Amino acid sequence: MIIDKKLIRAYALKNALEHDGKANPGSVLSGLFNHGLSKEDVQEVMPLIQAILREVDAISILEQEREFEELKSLIGKRPEREGLAELEGVDKKKGVIMRFAPSPSGPMHLGHIFTGMLNSLYVKKYCGMFYLRIEDTNPENIDADAYEMIPEEADWIFGNVHKCYCQSDRMVKYYELAEKIIDKKSAYVCTCDSEKFKELIDNRKPCPCRNLSLKEQLLRWEKMIDKKGYGEGEAVLRFKSDLNDSNPAMRDFPLARINLTKHPRQGKKYRVWPLMNLCVACDDMEFGFTHIIRAKEHRDNAKRQAMIFKIFNEKLPRTYFLGRYNFIDLEISCSKTKAKIKEGVYSGWDDIRLPFIAALRKRGYQPEAFEKMIVQRGMSEVDKVISQRDFFKVLNNFNREVLRSKTKKADFEKTDEKKSNVIILMPDNQKIFGKTSFKPKDSEIVYFEKFGYGKFNGKDSKKLLFWFCHE
Ligand SMILES: [Zn+2]
Repeated sequence: MIIDKKLIRAYALKNALEHDGKANPGSVLSGLFNHGLSKEDVQEVMPLIQAILREVDAISILEQEREFEELKSLIGKRPEREGLAELEGVDKKKGVIMRFAPSPSGPMHLGHIFTGMLNSLYVKKYCGMFYLRIEDTNPENIDADAYEMIPEEADWIFGNVHKCYCQSDRMVKYYELAEKIIDKKSAYVCTCDSEKFKELIDNRKPCPCRNLSLKEQLLRWEKMIDKKGYGEGEAVLRFKSDLNDSNPAMRDFPLARINLTKHPRQGKKYRVWPLMNLCVACDDMEFGFTHIIRAKEHRDNAKRQAMIFKIFNEKLPRTYFLGRYNFIDLEISCSKTKAKIKEGVYSGWDDIRLPFIAALRKRGYQPEAFEKMIVQRGMSEVDKVISQRDFFKVLNNFNREVLRSKTKKADFEKTDEKKSNVIILMPDNQKIFGKTSFKPKDSEIVYFEKFGYGKFNGKDSKKLLFWFCHE
């Protein structure tokens, strides 16, 4: 592998200019990795890098600037996407109305960051409104703590949530919409045995409930809501779609069902729970979302919601679908993690081995690092299969770049507890004692060479909450 001396020099100059004239070999290396340098070649190329760094450090900042102007186009040649692609149909004066809609089965994790962040970034780009919507109309799949964790985490990671709301607080609206759909003869209450119904629908045949009179449908709907009416599993509100749809799952899909499980937020107040397609269509119409970026596994749901929009002649938001990161060596599961926290395998959602926001935050990842990674990936429908190692390698590079721009560099020497004037608290709660001549201010971010980045604790200025280890 031959690395061009001029390219090394360009990165050295860039880094020196970002750091008061002194370049860091690690940063130059990470730049060169983007041009195909492999880890095996590092040892060979390192003496050359160091020689160039010495030359660059020796010249004045003015001289560095002048020379960088000449060489910076070399860096620009790396294949990187510049900023976000434009969305279609944006009214530049009004901006966009977008949303991110997690379900409260647990706190937020890596998967949420990617979909949510792209929505958030487009609202930042065009201005407008960004809603956080907690989709909690399935009483069986809720972790009560998520009601507090999700909004707090969303504020930290996105920084532009205008309003947060819970769907279960809007049940009246969903009931109203359900009745309107029944009124339009586009929904019916089915009391068939589920096996029997499936057999009919698979053969594109209507069940006996489908063609009953409007009066009978409204009575049946009342009987769903009435405590003395149908029992759990005895009646389902279904949308009348095309029985000849090539996908059986699209035919007469359910809109609402009876579920007597106690809801963590609403208690026993409701027995009929709307399913996601009804609530999502209701909210998306009422809030006037202009653009939706969602995970591509919701493609069929988007089609179902479009059918509901159609009967009200409502304009559909422009919808984009996103592929996901499939980790080969990392399972992201709220329920499994929760069980392991209970068993004591993990210390909590912020256990640094976990892919949840609480843990990533504790390890020092900055929201801007995710932003950079997401902008680089852009709106891609392709799933990406990746190992944790490769994923975090990219994220770490972005995170270092972000931290560097926020950081002061300081000296540090390990000592025993008595001689220390700074205590480093590692993410795993291990304590390290040492001395520095740096006088920290509250919450200031500092960089200790050969060690990494940390933030001083606002309450105890001696305590450094340590974040991001050097690699
Ligand atoms: Zn039926």
